[in-house]
Amino acid sequence: MYTLILIRSIDKQELEVTMTQSFEIAVFEGDGIGPEIMAPTIDILEKLAFASSDYRLSFVACAAGAAHYRKTGDSLPKASLDTAAKADAILLSAMGLPDVRYDDGTEISPQIDLRKAFNLFAGVRPVRARPGDHTPLKIPQGRIIDFVLIRESTEGLFHSQGVGEVTAHEARETLLITRDVSEKLFRFAFQLARERKDTGRGPGRVTCVDKANVFRAFAFFRSLFDAEAAKHPDLIADHAYVDATALWMVQKPWDFDVLVTENMFGDILSDLGAGLMGGLGLAPSADIGLEQAVFQPCHGSAPDIAGQGKANPIAMILSAAMMLEWLGLKHDVPAMIADGQHLRDAVDAILGDTSLLTPDLGGPNDTAGVGRAVLKVLTA
Ligand code: NAD
Repeated sequence: MYTLILIRSIDKQELEVTMTQSFEIAVFEGDGIGPEIMAPTIDILEKLAFASSDYRLSFVACAAGAAHYRKTGDSLPKASLDTAAKADAILLSAMGLPDVRYDDGTEISPQIDLRKAFNLFAGVRPVRARPGDHTPLKIPQGRIIDFVLIRESTEGLFHSQGVGEVTAHEARETLLITRDVSEKLFRFAFQLARERKDTGRGPGRVTCVDKANVFRAFAFFRSLFDAEAAKHPDLIADHAYVDATALWMVQKPWDFDVLVTENMFGDILSDLGAGLMGGLGLAPSADIGLEQAVFQPCHGSAPDIAGQGKANPIAMILSAAMMLEWLGLKHDVPAMIADGQHLRDAVDAILGDTSLLTPDLGGPNDTAGVGRAVLKVLTA
């Protein structure tokens, strides 16, 4: 969508045209702390867009989640799915409540349904920490943790969700790895490694994390990875078993660049990645497909702290920064890419002052206060 905002005559022959692009964002504020962390995030995005002459953002609220299911019997209404399909991007906080379950005992999880509905195969989870940050690790001088975990997000063991077989004597869930999704996933991973290398953020290395020593499905996964790797002789490709990867994420996470893995392994390792940064409240993510993308923190709805103003909105805010960059790259709006970086810099700036942070990071601030602190840096 384009809005013409200014036509300025340079001379009789030449017209300079400045365009403002407008983007509609579907907003799922979800359950538990979801609405609390979404409010400051939207506030920041609105102010960034208002200050820019290059882009506009509008937001459409979409009903979904555990509380909605409890009220209506529908966890992801078709109207919300349709709005999300038409939107330029989707912002989601967290969904699900432990006591809201289907008859089979599993929780409602529209965030997973959205990934499947829009084929969002690449779950991108950046992990960053420098010496002095909130990481529980002692990072050696001269090192930083800066890697990206890519979690396949539509199949793997999650393929079986809702269709696993349970009898009185046994339960069976099936893992699915397809050529089609794996090829897209690995192409995405190598492309990301190349972008990181080109911008000085890594050696251009992709590690396939699997369990190919035991399971045929992972030997297949690895063979598809190797086929993609062969197309990128200028990048480094290697493999690691998931159990060893868990160890190395704690012992030497600064050695990683881009890790790519199956859905369930990625689900578990991404919480370990959040732990490396200092907690779930700092861990952003994006679920990206060929057309659509959902931006949401790695964490859940944190019902234990909901309604108390204690929720850390930083993971949500950093996910919004990823959204700005994704939209900016996709639609060629450099100002959005720049604002994504400004937002990340503003978060980095407040992370150094504990008095501005929420209790999970040892601070006294509340959710709205963190949002105000980020805005203050942005507008200084
Ligand atoms: P959780 O991530 O909600 O919480 C785990 C722990 O981290 C809790 O102690 C919580 O207080 C803390 N925490 C999480 N986010 C925080 C934040 N922003 N600030 C401060 N502390 C934070 O995981 P859980 O307790 O296992 O799950 C709660 C619900 O969320 C469940 O219903 C689960 O199914 C759902 N869930 C949803 C998503 C999602 O929407 N993507 C992801 C994981 C879990």
